[in-house]
Amino acid sequence: GVSIRNLRKRFGDGPYVLDGIDLDIAKGELVCLIGPSGSGKSTLLRCINLLEKPDSGVVRVGDMLMGQELRDGKLHALRPRRYRAQQARIGMIFQQFNLFPHLTVLENVIEAPQAVRGQSKAEAVENARRLIARVGLADRENAYPRQLSGGQQQRIAIARALAMEPDVLLCDEPTSALDPELVGEVLEVLRDLAESGMTMIVVTHEMAFAREVADRVVFMSDGRIVEQDTPDRIFTNPREERTRNFLRRVL
Ligand code: ATP
Ligand code: MG
Repeated sequence: GVSIRNLRKRFGDGPYVLDGIDLDIAKGELVCLIGPSGSGKSTLLRCINLLEKPDSGVVRVGDMLMGQELRDGKLHALRPRRYRAQQARIGMIFQQFNLFPHLTVLENVIEAPQAVRGQSKAEAVENARRLIARVGLADRENAYPRQLSGGQQQRIAIARALAMEPDVLLCDEPTSALDPELVGEVLEVLRDLAESGMTMIVVTHEMAFAREVADRVVFMSDGRIVEQDTPDRIFTNPREERTRNFLRRVL
């Protein structure tokens, strides 16, 4: 699972964009993160996978203390190689699919397992074919990203993340860039992953998805967690005024 303690982050001398975040996510749990624009959702994900450096606080993923290590009884910033090794344990899905445009579907999926995890090409190809089939694109392994729809590209991005066997999958608005008719196929893949026991944090505006699939919904505002609960309670009976106002606007 993931455990976050008193996480704080600001840019320059601006206000705290994350202002004391405490959050625990159990192994196999799917948490949906919701909240207004600018509330700090993306920054929170980026602090978990070390794309941003928190000003203070602790992030643990499984048995990893992210970005830090204990040496001689003291916490030190990680050395670059260990840093990249930790990053490789975290899967990240972005709004824009970020596939390599000059590589085929299969080449996109086998690249990191070979380069970062040292898998043989044969092993990487075998795993990649299984994952590409799992996201429903077995017949497209030789296509280039530009030849695929946005929904298909995002499903390949998910297969590529899974090929690294991540401890947790972070998804930042994975369907926001898609035409409405393509949203369902991506959510279907995420739903399938959740059922298979993947630990996931999904930032989403798809309230129907959150309601149906999340184990827990976390509502953020102004860099803080205002309220978190089961989807049923968040959507039918939120306790906090700020949650009610937000839901009134988006539902
Ligand atoms: P949205 O729903 O629009 O994606 P969000 O909840 O993901 O919003 P963040 O992107 O985490 O919000 O941004 C939180 C705050 O931090 C915003 O005020 C944003 O302008 C600021 N911010 C984010 N990244 C940077 C940066 N690199 N430099 C300066 N300010 C930043
Ligand atoms: Mg964001």
